[in-house]
Amino acid sequence: MTTESSTQTLGFQTEVKQLLQLMIHSLYSNKEIFLRELVSNAADAADKLRFEALTDAALLEGDGELAVRVSYDKDARTLTIEDNGIGMSREEAIAHLGTIAKSGTGEFIKQLSGDAKKDSNLIGQFGVGFYSAFIVADQVDVYSRRAGLPASEGVRWSSRGEGEFEVATIDKPARGTRIVLHLKDGEESFADGWTLRSIIKKYSDHIGLPIQMPVEKYGEDADKADDSAPAWETVNKANALWTRAKADISAEDYNEFYKHIAHDYADPLAHSHNKVEGKLEYTSLLYVPGRAPYDLYQREAPKGLKLYVQRVFIMDQAEQFLPLYLRFIKGVVDSNDLSLNVSREILQSGPVIDSMKSALTKRSLDMLEKLATDKPEDYARFWKEFGQVLKEGPAEDYSNREKIAGLLRFASTKGDGDAQNVSLADYIGRMGEGQDKIYYLTGESHLQAANSPHLEVFAKKGIEVLLLTDRIDEWLMGYLTEFDGKSFVDIARGDLDLGKLESEEDKKAAEEAAKDKEGLVKRLGEALGESVSEVRVSHRLTDSPAILALGAGDLGLQMRQILEASGQKVPETKPVFEFNPTHPLINKLDNEADTDRFAELAHVLFDQAALAAGESLKDPAAYVRRLNKLLLELSA
Ligand code: ADP
Ligand code: MG
Repeated sequence: MTTESSTQTLGFQTEVKQLLQLMIHSLYSNKEIFLRELVSNAADAADKLRFEALTDAALLEGDGELAVRVSYDKDARTLTIEDNGIGMSREEAIAHLGTIAKSGTGEFIKQLSGDAKKDSNLIGQFGVGFYSAFIVADQVDVYSRRAGLPASEGVRWSSRGEGEFEVATIDKPARGTRIVLHLKDGEESFADGWTLRSIIKKYSDHIGLPIQMPVEKYGEDADKADDSAPAWETVNKANALWTRAKADISAEDYNEFYKHIAHDYADPLAHSHNKVEGKLEYTSLLYVPGRAPYDLYQREAPKGLKLYVQRVFIMDQAEQFLPLYLRFIKGVVDSNDLSLNVSREILQSGPVIDSMKSALTKRSLDMLEKLATDKPEDYARFWKEFGQVLKEGPAEDYSNREKIAGLLRFASTKGDGDAQNVSLADYIGRMGEGQDKIYYLTGESHLQAANSPHLEVFAKKGIEVLLLTDRIDEWLMGYLTEFDGKSFVDIARGDLDLGKLESEEDKKAAEEAAKDKEGLVKRLGEALGESVSEVRVSHRLTDSPAILALGAGDLGLQMRQILEASGQKVPETKPVFEFNPTHPLINKLDNEADTDRFAELAHVLFDQAALAAGESLKDPAAYVRRLNKLLLELSA
């Protein structure tokens, strides 16, 4: 009988209570995953012990053969999972088994609807690790002792999953954690050797730690009384998955391994497994997750790979092996060149890290390229989840600019509504004769961009234009100058030159119009004064009377908004006012002799052009006043 002291009853964190409620009452479609979760935790605990033992061998207490043992008692209806990993102190048990530290928990709880069916689906996606034990158990007892603490400082943690748990200090000679599940009525099938073996095979074969079960006795032997200690046998492959030959690893294995290391509950979209030999020796296994974590855009969100050195776990979230714009990639890297006592500081840089980083970056981009080619639908999913992050790439990683550009997807005037599914290769493939540039337009929203007067001449000539309406697009395009030898042209910027796309007749007509309207250009310049940097005749327009163009080096609307939002002073820029020489309103203006009325109409046209560009007016009331005056004249 173990002696217990300092028994304490504590309440679960609110979020945990809600999760437990759900788990206990919702129809969980995939009950058996609890075993995967508990085994996964045991494997993590073994990794942590091995790592700490690198600097303090005494922690192994003479027992360096790490394993997890799964046993059951049919009569008592219990299932026991026991490991000799790092273990938990009393404080750790309270903290780790009473709260959920995972980022995004708040978000997750907010999404819960109270509809059991929907919510159980959500849980499946979010995952709840240890707490999944309560799917099949109505009582869970955890006995643990942290490596390095005396036997008298063990802890017992027990709960019925109903809002509170009990902790007590116990004697626990064996280091590590033993978890006893008291199976619910109806869940007896989990106290069965064959069932347990097949679950372990299915979900945990890839775990590097041996998962052992008692050797089963069959036939006559099964009835014989036998007091000797059970013989154990290992039921999984028990070698680190990434060390195995690719041919011996099934798609299932790869997926389950991903879930273990990424703490994700959905399958990944792709993986890339490589062994590098030569000057540097390392193995990498990289994954593209199927969905973005809640905190993808938060600075402190976990990122980076799981680092092993010669099979020994060193750290989670080693951020040094991939650039920030690939922070969504998950995986493992196992190096033979780094030292076992490598630290985060040492990892900051150095030739080994630098060359691994550049190789792993390439591998990641290749993996995305392959996904885009082989599974366009999955790539579309990837793009929806992570496209915005990838767009940070050209600015961060100059040397891979072209490769990253090839992975970008855009909405376009020849695309499918606002869907971002046109690649630059698609665009170039559709280019007509005489076109040697990639045209794009940035805008506030898809609707605004798609209806922009800037597109008029392109629509008339049937030239495709990419429509860029994400917040960071203008910034992104600042780093992309060309793709496949073709330069990018912002059609709202500068004096549009369509080059060979404009016929000799077009050019002649434009020149004549410009000459013809010289007087109007001058008068408009005087009327609009300080509001514009220049007035000129436009060749962009077919239907609209006027348009505002940006100066070649001016900041566009998106960039100005980003800078303003971050509290920076934005330099004042003046647009170019371009007018359509064939538009009836412009002709009316040209024929207006009254200076005041001319100025009123000019300002209305200027403000309208600003509105069509998605800008807000400096003096909206003045615009309304002027327009109303004109409307009144109309009806008079
Ligand atoms: P996660 O594994 O994603 O961190 P879990 O809910 O599965 O979340 O586990 C919560 C925490 O409880 C773990 O991070 C770990 O600190 C602790 N824990 C769970 N099982 C064990 C174990 N067998 N040995 C040591 N610590 C454990
Ligand atoms: Mg876990």
